[in-house]
Amino acid sequence: MVMSGNLPGTPGRITIDLDALAGNWRSLAQLVAPAECSAVVKANAYGLGAARVVPCLAGAGCKTFFVATLSEAADIIPIASGARVFVLNGILPNDVSAFIDTGAIPVLSTRDEIALWRAEADRCNVCLPAAVQTDSGLNRLGLTQPDIQKLTADPNALNGLQLVLVMSHLACADDPDAVQNEAQRHAFETGSADFPGVPQSLAASDGLMLGTGYHYDLVRPGYALYGGQAFRGRPTPVKLVVTVTTKLLQIRSLSKGDEVGYSATYRANQNMTIAIVAAGYADGVPRSSSAGTSKSGGYVAIAGQRTPILGRVSMDLIAVDVSDIPEQHLTRGAEVELIGPTLPLDDVGQTAQTIGYEILTRLSPRFERIYLQRAEG
Ligand SMILES: *Cc1c(COP(=O)(O)O)cnc(C)c1O
Repeated sequence: MVMSGNLPGTPGRITIDLDALAGNWRSLAQLVAPAECSAVVKANAYGLGAARVVPCLAGAGCKTFFVATLSEAADIIPIASGARVFVLNGILPNDVSAFIDTGAIPVLSTRDEIALWRAEADRCNVCLPAAVQTDSGLNRLGLTQPDIQKLTADPNALNGLQLVLVMSHLACADDPDAVQNEAQRHAFETGSADFPGVPQSLAASDGLMLGTGYHYDLVRPGYALYGGQAFRGRPTPVKLVVTVTTKLLQIRSLSKGDEVGYSATYRANQNMTIAIVAAGYADGVPRSSSAGTSKSGGYVAIAGQRTPILGRVSMDLIAVDVSDIPEQHLTRGAEVELIGPTLPLDDVGQTAQTIGYEILTRLSPRFERIYLQRAEG
């Protein structure tokens, strides 16, 4: 069944295949079993809409979700079918009571946070669930080895807390040859040894492809669920989830020497046909995918054929070369692919000098989101 708003006057569409999303979660869950497969749905499920993504994944069997912030947790807990929801960025002093109210589980990364959550457990005379994050070399969030030593030196340091997960995060897992991977794995084992019996988690989308030695008790994929290929070693067994299309507005003929777009960065070196397309940086087409006469940039696809962007990406429009596209496809209102089967997300990131993650999370609300789902739930 196609769920479609079909808003008149909205040329841009983000089509999200929920069946493929559920299938991707099942594939990864199968790949890592007996480890548990969670789902990372921070940033509104990487821009795809947590309101639809979370119930879909919970329906597929996902029992653990990760978000970045408490407000993201508050949004998804009511629709997560009782699954656990962890907040990766931890707990700030003013958020303690909101954490209790929502039932979100904080990922504690400093001794201060641990003390704060313990004090609340004391005050309420209850045992509070928590995850701890150890730093294994990323130097982002996480307890350092000296922090862990200070904690373990105090026999009461974790009183009142029920530790349900000890986790860390890899810096270079997209590169199977990076020496940091094994170094971080060792550092994680050292750090988590001080939390005996607590389930462990190290790998995200890329790390889970490094092999079973990285799976531990739970893996935390985000990007791969949405069809992204985070790992440079071999393909992750996931299918396309996201297709982004917009529409062709106008065809123009250029003569040799004509210039295209702001700052006239592209000059035609022969007569050619271009199309003006309804998408720009306000829709999430990065301005860094602009192309000049000597610099290549991003692509669109028309009728399954890739063709380059010409000149600067403007706020609402791009110009593309259609000299090689058969004329029958060049009608006003014809569909133009920005991301999809012909233009994989990761390639779109690369031609914009960024990563597919940033492309996904910056797709604009101006594009209509359409969800495909054969069966509810
Ligand atoms: C974002 C994030 C993930 C998910 O990463 P992907 O590469 O999208 O799979 C996992 N763990 C942590 C700590 C994260 O910040």
